[in-house]
Amino acid sequence: MKLKDLGEFNFINRISKSIRASSQVVKGIGDDAAVLKYTKDKHLLFTTDMIIEGKHFYKSAKAELVGKKSLSCNISDIAAMGGVPKFAVISVGFPGSLDLKYADKLYKGIRKVANSFKVDLVGGDTVNSGKIIINIALIGEVEKKNLVLRSGAKEDDAIFITGNIGGSIKFKHLNFTPRIKEARFLVNNFKINSMTDISDGLLADLGHILDESYKGAIICEKTIPVSRNASGFDSAVRDGEDFELVFTLPWPQADRLEKTWPFTTRLSRIGRIINRRKGFSIVNKSGKSKKINPTGFTHF
Ligand code: ADP
Ligand code: MG
Repeated sequence: MKLKDLGEFNFINRISKSIRASSQVVKGIGDDAAVLKYTKDKHLLFTTDMIIEGKHFYKSAKAELVGKKSLSCNISDIAAMGGVPKFAVISVGFPGSLDLKYADKLYKGIRKVANSFKVDLVGGDTVNSGKIIINIALIGEVEKKNLVLRSGAKEDDAIFITGNIGGSIKFKHLNFTPRIKEARFLVNNFKINSMTDISDGLLADLGHILDESYKGAIICEKTIPVSRNASGFDSAVRDGEDFELVFTLPWPQADRLEKTWPFTTRLSRIGRIINRRKGFSIVNKSGKSKKINPTGFTHF
């Protein structure tokens, strides 16, 4: 059997089943970041992401933006847990023929993001590689009371997303702002029951919340904010790399959230969590309800 026959998620499941976590691990494989025991009041968060030339970016893309993306996608996973990013190590694979200016600009992008999110760059590894590869591992922390998992969605929760979705591939996927300040506002002021970042596409990532929480959902097409760069609604809800947040909170808190939201980042209430037996469906613009098959981007 080939990896591509199994698929990315089944492969990760297979690894997950073969691993036994110690009691130090609060949440291992299966969320945006691992959650580890730390202090009396806080958990440690630990995540990693890798980007590769020709897959996640092209050589023609601005090196500084590639650097920004390599750290920002990790920070986005810390945001999705309700936490604060702290320390990063950066491993790079570069061809020997790489222009030094490229490497300098890439690190300039990484440094800019690190500075604006107060992340310390504390190490890494450098190897020779045919294509440019950047892998960052990031440690963050979160107050125990503020930790948000994918698995906590409750029936009758309101479902919200930040920003606009779709068409990210045109520009935004290399130049986005991870939603740390929005996530911190949410966890400090509301009971956020579940959250994830949109990296595989809205339907797939909301699908992860539903699977992990064992819930269903109903979402409403006319409330979903589609970017003007998207090529239509269907692709917007399936495209990956939006790096927005999708989260749920008790319906009675939703009005207060909308009234007190202090950011220019858009906030949209797109639906409601329902019983698992009722499945996952969308109400289209003419009021018709349709079942959703939540597939989004997968690597294989
Ligand atoms: P995200 O898109 O939020 O970065 P992924 O879909 O990449 O998350 O990963 C889902 C989960 O699977 C995460 O908990 C991640 O740590 C884990 N994971 C992914 N690849 C591997 C691997 N090769 N070995 C172990 N765990 C993995
Ligand atoms: Mg994620």
